[in-house]
Amino acid sequence: MIERQMLDEQKKSWPSKSAQAYAEACSCLPGGVNSPVRAFGGVDLDPLFIESAKGSKIYDIDGNEYIDYVGSWGPMILGHAHPKVLEAVIAAAQKGTSFGAPTLAETTLAKKIIAAFDSVEKVRLVSSGTEAVMTAIRLARGYSKKDLIIKMAGCYHGHSDSLLVAAGSGLAEVTTGRPLGSAIASSGGVPDSIAKLTVVIPYNDIEVVKGAFDLYRGKIAAVLVEPVAANMGVVPPIDGYLQTLRNLCDQNDSLLIFDEVITGFRLALGGAQQLFGIKADITCLGKIIGGGLPVGALGGRADIMDMLAPLGPVYQAGTLSGNPLATAAAIATLDILCEADSYERLESSAALLEAGLANAAKEAGINVTLNRLGSIMSCFFTDKKVQNFTDVQSTDIKRFKKFFALMLEQGIYLAPSAYEAMFVSLAHSKADIEKTIEAARISFGKIPNEE
Ligand code: PLP
Repeated sequence: MIERQMLDEQKKSWPSKSAQAYAEACSCLPGGVNSPVRAFGGVDLDPLFIESAKGSKIYDIDGNEYIDYVGSWGPMILGHAHPKVLEAVIAAAQKGTSFGAPTLAETTLAKKIIAAFDSVEKVRLVSSGTEAVMTAIRLARGYSKKDLIIKMAGCYHGHSDSLLVAAGSGLAEVTTGRPLGSAIASSGGVPDSIAKLTVVIPYNDIEVVKGAFDLYRGKIAAVLVEPVAANMGVVPPIDGYLQTLRNLCDQNDSLLIFDEVITGFRLALGGAQQLFGIKADITCLGKIIGGGLPVGALGGRADIMDMLAPLGPVYQAGTLSGNPLATAAAIATLDILCEADSYERLESSAALLEAGLANAAKEAGINVTLNRLGSIMSCFFTDKKVQNFTDVQSTDIKRFKKFFALMLEQGIYLAPSAYEAMFVSLAHSKADIEKTIEAARISFGKIPNEE
């Protein structure tokens, strides 16, 4: 009750132009948005409408300024509207916005990706992370001549049919020797006949993945995983997990697909693969490699990638693939990231934030578990370890919602969902981080563990 009142109060004081804009948007866009999480449903509030962003700050249409930890859900690692990225995009636009024919910039970008990732010999550029992963699983099936894909619960790989699925009955029971079912659709419009070609198992569970390979011997085309899960909040892999996946794929002639749409160029230039020293067969990229414009990519060994049309039988195409504006933004972004000490700076800002949040929570007597790897982080409201989706679901989501609202009120823009990461960028200054910690201290103080 107290909580409801608090949220209602919050809504009353909400910026009025955003409220009006949302009402109007709802009349012509389903749910008022073009991507569901933007609707703020995960925090029981109405969304802010954004006017502009610069560096670490984002501004709503009422002129309020927020320190932004969403970063457009990951791409804005340099901060918003970086002058060199803008310059590159404007220069590209002046030459024409799309040709539907090869450009030099596509080769340049592919070479940059290949240079960053040891496992990548060839690249196909697409326009979103969804497309990259969708194509990767088609390629894995075409290459391996097998149909099943193993996916981990809580990992998100875009909205293609095969991947909007949840564990079917009996899945987690593999360790007990009982049957391991295939997945069921988790979205309307996905036929069960498609969903059942995906096997959903818990993330970070070595025994279960071994069991899945035993049960579906000879049928698994690929294991698809976010090497560091970042779509159930941030959940790093436990020791040996990624190596086990690599070994099982090798032993069973299955491909290992790393979805590095978030982690690629985020955790290191070579993504999670560089950090953990494990090579994927196919790597999916997106977000950062578009510098804020729509880009995705998949890359991998040449013998696998050459299965794609026009060389091979696996079809994929895109009117805007390798778009000149997007490739210009991508090249400028990667060039800046390659500059010395980018990742050290990200690490030190994020470490400062983590330490500050931990202290603030401790002082307020609030139980939190902070999961962080490099510049992605989650603050889970629990006193337990968070290692898989079940752990995430058992955290205190109600408390997160209150925390979110209190932070927003103080000018801190977190992802409006307990299942999303915080993204620290190169534009976040020490003053930004300190302001955020102070806001968290005040917020934690208002949400005691027990009411
Ligand atoms: N894979 C991962 C790991 C993601 O986080 C996302 C999006 O959040 C996707 C794939 C899908 O990317 P997009 O939204 O560009 O289609």
